[in-house]
Amino acid sequence: MAAVLIIGAGGVSNVVVHKCAQVSEVFSDIVLASRTQAKCDAIARSLRRTITTAQVDADDVGQMVKLIKKHKPDLVLNVALPYQDLPIMDACLETKVDYLDTANYEPKDVAKFEYKWQWAYQERYRKAGIMALLGSGFDPGVTNVFCAYAQKHFYDEIHTVDIVDCNAGEHGHPFATNFNPEINIREITQKGKYWEAGAWKEIDPMSVSLDVDYPEVGPKRSYLLYHEELESLVKHIKGLKRIRFWMTFGQAYITHLQVLQNVGMTRIDPVEFQGHKIVPLEFLKALLPDPGSLGTNYKGKTCIGCIFDGVKDGRRKNMMIYNVCDHAECFKETGSQAISYTTGVPAMIGAKMMLTGKWKKPGVWNMEQFDPDPFMDDLNKYGLPWKILEGKTLEN
Ligand code: NDP
Repeated sequence: MAAVLIIGAGGVSNVVVHKCAQVSEVFSDIVLASRTQAKCDAIARSLRRTITTAQVDADDVGQMVKLIKKHKPDLVLNVALPYQDLPIMDACLETKVDYLDTANYEPKDVAKFEYKWQWAYQERYRKAGIMALLGSGFDPGVTNVFCAYAQKHFYDEIHTVDIVDCNAGEHGHPFATNFNPEINIREITQKGKYWEAGAWKEIDPMSVSLDVDYPEVGPKRSYLLYHEELESLVKHIKGLKRIRFWMTFGQAYITHLQVLQNVGMTRIDPVEFQGHKIVPLEFLKALLPDPGSLGTNYKGKTCIGCIFDGVKDGRRKNMMIYNVCDHAECFKETGSQAISYTTGVPAMIGAKMMLTGKWKKPGVWNMEQFDPDPFMDDLNKYGLPWKILEGKTLEN
């Protein structure tokens, strides 16, 4: 029995709250706080259980500390935006409460995500006797756990990993992003990057692509991007020679994005407009559909997984571990589409791992640093069943 304080009330939060509410034997008390309390109240009304809601500006460490002291949670689960990671980690440190998030910190003025800012808390968290679990979504999150599971059960050495992320769903809008538009567009308009032979290789945004045949979905054009789990996995997977991340985009999405970029709408620096400072990407976010609202008519599936190449008992071994998720089924269960669902379920499971003591050590950790088995069992139990495809490569 434990109390959890969830920060943020967007699409992912809606799933996290629904899932925590379903697992009442672990999450006996739930407090949901965000910048706009009305959004917390709307989520609370959609539940069968009663939870507490509150208002907080999580950029303000003082407000966060006050909120934590008032509700005395065992864990703070951060599903606000990456900008809030550090203030929330500071508040957890001050109050000696465990921390979990789904995306690594990004400074607001540079589109750049790196773990260095959060890894810098390692010693302070260890000394305070508290734990931070970083990136407990799907990618990062489940993809890291798939790597740890492959390393533990199927390989002596993993030589290459290709993380492949396909959304074959249709939401009916000409252009929309599946999670926070500002964060999503920052992610895909920055340079692509992958790791090979001990060094990072940089490429122009969306300049490398290939067709990947996704199980239960079929072939889809996939683009090489930089993604944050690559940074921790190169440190923790034995014998790794190359790791890359691929994501599908339809032609209409890419054309919209190119136009928006060409006219300056994806800029993150403030511009002067009629006496006001406006950040074009923040303004664009206000015009685009709220990702939390996309679920109503979303049809089709996601397929996200890891394709491995390596050696077991002296023999070469190829395989893929993956999950397929159906947008309409996710919506029926939680009122959210599959991108929010595939992020929110692992956030709940990560919190459950910590609160039940299965994953518990003071310090700041990435997902692949723990025993993957109990997490993999819970994925099957709580809505994200996974499968293994033997012999699968990126090309076949
Ligand atoms: P949304 O934009 O839908 O929701 C973000 C929420 O955070 C909103 O309710 C917003 O409040 C709240 N918020 C923003 N700033 C503050 C603040 N200063 N104080 C308090 N609350 C604040 O985003 P998503 O639900 O789509 O995404 C949530 C997180 O999940 C993001 O960090 C995203 O990067 C991550 N993610 C991770 C994935 C993974 O697989 N690992 C995949 C997809 C997303 P308001 O509504 O009032 O603005």
